[in-house]
Amino acid sequence: MSQHSTQTSVLLIYTGGTIGMIQNPETGALENFNFDQLLQHVPEIKQFNLDIFSYTFNPPIDSSDMNPTFWAELTGIIYSNYERYDGFVILHGTDTMAFTASALSFMLEGLMKPVILTGSQLPIGALRTDGKENLLTAIEIAAAKNPDGTPIVPEVCVFFHEKLMRGNRTTKISAENFDAFESNNYPLLAHSGIEIQYHRHFIRPYEPDAELIPHYRMDSDIMIFSLFPGIQPGIVKQLLQSPDLKGIIFRTFGSGNAPRFPWLTEALTEATKAGKIIINITQCSTGSVKMHLYETGRQLLEVGIISGNDSTVEAALTKLMYLLGKSLDPETIRSEMKRSIAGEISV
Ligand code: ASP
Repeated sequence: MSQHSTQTSVLLIYTGGTIGMIQNPETGALENFNFDQLLQHVPEIKQFNLDIFSYTFNPPIDSSDMNPTFWAELTGIIYSNYERYDGFVILHGTDTMAFTASALSFMLEGLMKPVILTGSQLPIGALRTDGKENLLTAIEIAAAKNPDGTPIVPEVCVFFHEKLMRGNRTTKISAENFDAFESNNYPLLAHSGIEIQYHRHFIRPYEPDAELIPHYRMDSDIMIFSLFPGIQPGIVKQLLQSPDLKGIIFRTFGSGNAPRFPWLTEALTEATKAGKIIINITQCSTGSVKMHLYETGRQLLEVGIISGNDSTVEAALTKLMYLLGKSLDPETIRSEMKRSIAGEISV
């Protein structure tokens, strides 16, 4: 979009999503349009005193089609352009944005530049679109620097509807509202009103000597499994005994509780003994797993289930994919799951 110079530069990566869609007049369905068409709707972008370049997925995708191969592609794009740009903005569909943000926070080890994901609930060409505001503010945040030239937000974030959130703490909470994302267990990194107010205390500190190490391998031989009253032994046992299964994000009740059925305890014990990693994540949207609180949680601790504490499902899932992708032994993975790798869990 402009010639490279010494001024702050941002790489805009367009993956797809509603932000860049247009309604097909015949079917009424939303379909992708290309990046140049998208930018025509935001002439304001030229008012930034920035060098803005773009990279576009060909073809752009609905984020329901997002997968670890695309995450590896994004990791590669950021790694190979890391020295050239001061910040990165990823335009992404909202449906799986929290998964991508979480995955990238692990895959981009040592990241010390802003990677800001954003999108919108209404296409950028729609009259009442939220896309313009989200895109323009995300660019501003990606370019924001301290007086000493270091980036204000050197981490993977989601910016959506006035809120800057740590990427691996976000969850999509609304299929309808402009305020569609929440960071339930970690404070906002910034709030955008008349000014962008950064909450510096919660932003990952800049480390001048950190080196970006890209990780491309994610192992997705895992499952998310949610408890409910009336759950049947045959189905659960079959899942837990599945030979390909390496790990489970186990969504439990309240503070990490499960029914005390002997068949369930037995099946979970066998699975952990066989080396499968089971991570306890609460079905509640706020708060954390505390397995020692009730007998119904304590039994899970005893069979070797690991507490995901206050992690989101998205963060626990992608962290497990990342650790399994490194081919570590089960004990190392279990202890890594308990520690914070990229600020995804309170310890
Ligand atoms: N289905 C769209 C997507 O995730 C929804 C959106 O972007 O809001 O790509």
